[in-house]
Amino acid sequence: MIIACTNVSSKENFKVMPTDNNTTLLSEQEWKAKLSDEEYYILREKGTEKPFTGKFLMHKENGYYTCKGCGEKLFKSDAKFDAHCGWPSFDAEIEKGKITYTQDNSHGMQRVEITCSKCGSHLGHVFNDGPTKTGLRYCVNSVSLEFEPESTKTSDTMTIGGGCFWCTEAVYSRINGVLKVEPGYAGGHTKNPTYKEVCTGNTGHAEVIQLTYNPSVISYLELLKVFFATHDPTTLNRQGNDVGTQYRSVIFFHNEQQKQIATEVISELTLNQIYKQPIVTEIVPITNFYNAEDYHQNYFEENSTSNPYCEIVIQPKVEKFEKLFKNLLKGK
Ligand SMILES: [Zn+2]
Repeated sequence: MIIACTNVSSKENFKVMPTDNNTTLLSEQEWKAKLSDEEYYILREKGTEKPFTGKFLMHKENGYYTCKGCGEKLFKSDAKFDAHCGWPSFDAEIEKGKITYTQDNSHGMQRVEITCSKCGSHLGHVFNDGPTKTGLRYCVNSVSLEFEPESTKTSDTMTIGGGCFWCTEAVYSRINGVLKVEPGYAGGHTKNPTYKEVCTGNTGHAEVIQLTYNPSVISYLELLKVFFATHDPTTLNRQGNDVGTQYRSVIFFHNEQQKQIATEVISELTLNQIYKQPIVTEIVPITNFYNAEDYHQNYFEENSTSNPYCEIVIQPKVEKFEKLFKNLLKGK
């Protein structure tokens, strides 16, 4: 087994923390429930996988290596190089601050341990014998990582129902990377329904918005985070004073990947007890979608002064969204 254990002193491009960093998102019990035994041993007990065994050692796709513990993007594929040491190696973190550096004097060596700054999971060690111009070699357990391929698509579709579509449209039309927002009806059993028919609650359709977005600017996951932060996913067939199955909380997935991401987001929110009540959001395949009548398009922008609903219901939602997701706004 080759372990490069040269003494590492604090370098200018990262700051070594003097003591152990106890950042953690979950309790030990929750980590145990979330991770496999091997993952728990490495991520939470600072274990090391056997060299030359990890799934990302020879991995060469373009994309992002994310933290197994919390999903945070940690390394980009262009930082990866073959260090012949038995573990995936990188020459830089994706962005300063994503990784925390801690002096590690265990096993009679002086090393610098690297952990995920967001969730505190152990990743491996960093050495200053890297062959590239950063001079660094981040030696990382494959088990500590997940891989997210870089999207080559320039547009993708998402369909969600989070109550009144005037509200959801107002929120999503402000997001950078969202190319088009179409209010409409989906999931029901009648063809070309009218707004009036949908409002009776008898068509089975939900008020939805269908987004066309650029996945290289914003991911499905980020769009879902906005969804869960800007409507109440715990009230069955209701959003505030809007009551009826047409206002149900629903994700209409277009492919298996969307289904999987949506399912994972709901389990994460549940595990972390983000809401006091259970999440009732449906995750169902998209079977139909009908555009709403023209006067619903851009409703909030067109009617913000004439319809009190806009001021009372939509405006606060938009303000909440803009406060929570400043970094996602158009023109930022
Ligand atoms: Zn993490």
